[in-house]
Amino acid sequence: MFDIKTRLEDHLGRTGTIHTPHGDIQTPAFIPVATKATVKAVLPETMREIGAQALLSNAYHLYLQPGSDIVDEAGGVAAFENWHGPTFTDSGGFQVLSLGSGFKKVLSEEFNGKAHVDGQVAGKKERLANVDDDGVWFRSHLNGSKHRFTPEVSMRIQHELGADIIFAFDELTTLLNSRGYQEEALERTRLWAQRCLRAHKQLTEEREGKPYQQLFGVIQGAQYEDLRRKAARDLGNMEIDGQRFDGFGVGGALEKENLGTIVGWVNEELPEDRARHLLGISEPDDLFVGVENGIDTFDCVNPSRVARNAAIYSPDGRFNVNRARHRRDFTPLVDGCECYTCTHYTKAYLHHLFKAKEMVVNTLTTIHNEYFTIKLVDDIRHHMESGTYWEFKEETLGRFYGKRDI
Ligand SMILES: [Zn+2]
Repeated sequence: MFDIKTRLEDHLGRTGTIHTPHGDIQTPAFIPVATKATVKAVLPETMREIGAQALLSNAYHLYLQPGSDIVDEAGGVAAFENWHGPTFTDSGGFQVLSLGSGFKKVLSEEFNGKAHVDGQVAGKKERLANVDDDGVWFRSHLNGSKHRFTPEVSMRIQHELGADIIFAFDELTTLLNSRGYQEEALERTRLWAQRCLRAHKQLTEEREGKPYQQLFGVIQGAQYEDLRRKAARDLGNMEIDGQRFDGFGVGGALEKENLGTIVGWVNEELPEDRARHLLGISEPDDLFVGVENGIDTFDCVNPSRVARNAAIYSPDGRFNVNRARHRRDFTPLVDGCECYTCTHYTKAYLHHLFKAKEMVVNTLTTIHNEYFTIKLVDDIRHHMESGTYWEFKEETLGRFYGKRDI
């Protein structure tokens, strides 16, 4: 299901192809996020035009609304959303624990030296999720109703959603959790991984005739080398009734400055012949670091989320098209960008749409930012294949993070 094509010399990076029943994904690839079975403000036809190879939806959201049984009846998420290409769903674990308990994915800026709090949440918000060894109780962020996710429930929901690539149910921790809590959570995630494999095998047999769904195990372990390596070995070798993980996700608490190191530990341990996904990453420097440390696919809500706030990605860094200086700027967002927005519209027009609060501006800016991110990872892949990766990295990051005035 995953073939390696070329390798980055002396590094873990590789190019390859993930085969799915809905088509192939050339890797490395950026997978745009369609949380509730739509990339916010953009049609699936457009996502295909800008080069998206797959879309990632969220099991938690689709379980609560409209219900995974309805998506199942529609023929799975790809048919339901009129995408018909490869799809991913994440397990819902992240949302259950983050929306449910009020903490966000912890990158370094959120880790500001607060005291360690075992299983507790930093902040005042009421804790809405409770983890035990069997699963998680949580309250819906929509109406406060009480729900329970277990590995078996997550697997059933993801089978009903029918994505080509699905993820094992895991416990997310934050960098604020103590070492002791990280160990406990990791052991829980290991036992849940076994239950996910068992449930996945049963559901695959039960739902005979449906296209095979690849199950990815999720590697946790926060910032600890021994825990990360152990998790990767445990899940990498795990086999239940002949069922193994088809690929892996690297999840959980990561400090930006240690991202490459942590991903490297994990990918040194994981079997080479399985695809690896890095959850929730899209900044240009993080994409390069991920790829050269052996990541094949990425997803992140950021390109579309920031687009709706007028933040635009350009080769010279991010800028805000809301700024007054763009009021009479009749050039595209990025000179030479071949996206639909840049080939048809000006900064002045987009600036106007934002000021006038016209909805279509979200569509236009999202198209550009998604195109930018997809193309960046595509370019990384092409440069890996042609042996010019390091030159491309230096040039791209030098420009993106260099001094600029836009
Ligand atoms: Zn553009």
